Amino acid sequence: MKFCPQCQSNNIVKSGIVNERQRYKCKACNYFFTVNKLGKRIDQYYVTKALQLYLEGLSYREIERILGISHVSVMNWVRKYNIQKVQNSDVHPTYKILSQTELGKYFSSEENTRGSGMIVTELGDKFMVIKWERFKE
Ligand SMILES: [Zn+2]
Repeated sequence: MKFCPQCQSNNIVKSGIVNERQRYKCKACNYFFTVNKLGKRIDQYYVTKALQLYLEGLSYREIERILGISHVSVMNWVRKYNIQKVQNSDVHPTYKILSQTELGKYFSSEENTRGSGMIVTELGDKFMVIKWERFKE
């Protein structure tokens, strides 16, 4: 799993070795980066995303599937940061992963926004819409 630290695109190619580290080039934004630098940025970005999703009620397995991060890592972060999830088995959010264009279309339809709260979070080069429908009959 590799993403560009600048634009989060996964459209990257190997581009030589610099100081004994693999260098990569992002084909989306032409940014060059090495693995070590990448690793640090990825951690900060994905720790936050994983914990956000965890708090929104997604299971470890779902977070693993969405972010491509081992559920063991996510469990470790939850422990490390002492994240306490509100227990509520009745409510489970539904979510969609949309591109910028799809996101615009989604919000332009009143049907999609009426009667439910939503959280939008950046996810790589896409967006995740987490929708709450708990107040609907
Ligand atoms: Zn990039």
